[in-house]
Amino acid sequence: MNPIRVVVWGENVHEHKNPKVGAIYPDGMHQAIAGGVKKLLPAAEVGTATLQEPDHGLTAERLAQTDVLIWWGHMAHDKVEDCVVDRVQKRVLEGMGLIVLHSGHYSKVFKRLLGTSCSLTWREADERERLWVCNPGHPIARGIDRCFELPREEMYGEPFGIPSPDEQVFISWFEGGEVFRSGCCWHRGNGRIFYFRPGHETYPTYHDKNVQRVIANAVEWARPQGQWVDACPNVKVPMEPIGRPRG
Ligand code: ZN
Repeated sequence: MNPIRVVVWGENVHEHKNPKVGAIYPDGMHQAIAGGVKKLLPAAEVGTATLQEPDHGLTAERLAQTDVLIWWGHMAHDKVEDCVVDRVQKRVLEGMGLIVLHSGHYSKVFKRLLGTSCSLTWREADERERLWVCNPGHPIARGIDRCFELPREEMYGEPFGIPSPDEQVFISWFEGGEVFRSGCCWHRGNGRIFYFRPGHETYPTYHDKNVQRVIANAVEWARPQGQWVDACPNVKVPMEPIGRPRG
């Protein structure tokens, strides 16, 4: 099998504005996320792209050579050009995998592909998160115990304004009492989409080994299963002659 070609897209803003975030992720959150994928999937070809690059680093040519796109964004969702969102959507429908992390729930690409509000409740209170595996046979849960914990995270709670997931892999419980559908799968066109909740910028979540394992598993799950080119051909010549007498 060909190596999986992965691009980790980072908004890359908090790291330069908030010294606390810069200290946790000195090379940027996207580099930390990419590092986890490289470590666990050494055969994968892993690159990064950021908001600040021309075309946000996501030209049509780059996307055509991407099997799985990982997306982290938060405070600059509205700075993402609509033409890039169009390109990402097209590639997902063709078969590219998309993994959307944490505050990416409100990104243009996620909302475009899911078609709903993607809103939720939230609170920043340094609380414990326990992620329960609700589908132990799912490939994204491979190597994960029945649950794992993150000692401090931002809380996301229900209701989460998403279409019902095709497959549910994790549900989170928070110290303050809320629960949240924190690992969700969808199919759009020929592409696979996974949303994974953890990853608030002021916590070292992307250095956590369980979080890294889930993201690497999701990369393998989301890799293209084939390509479905968007076309609507008029098939004038039938496979078989039409109108033969039926006996
Ligand atoms: Zn957050």
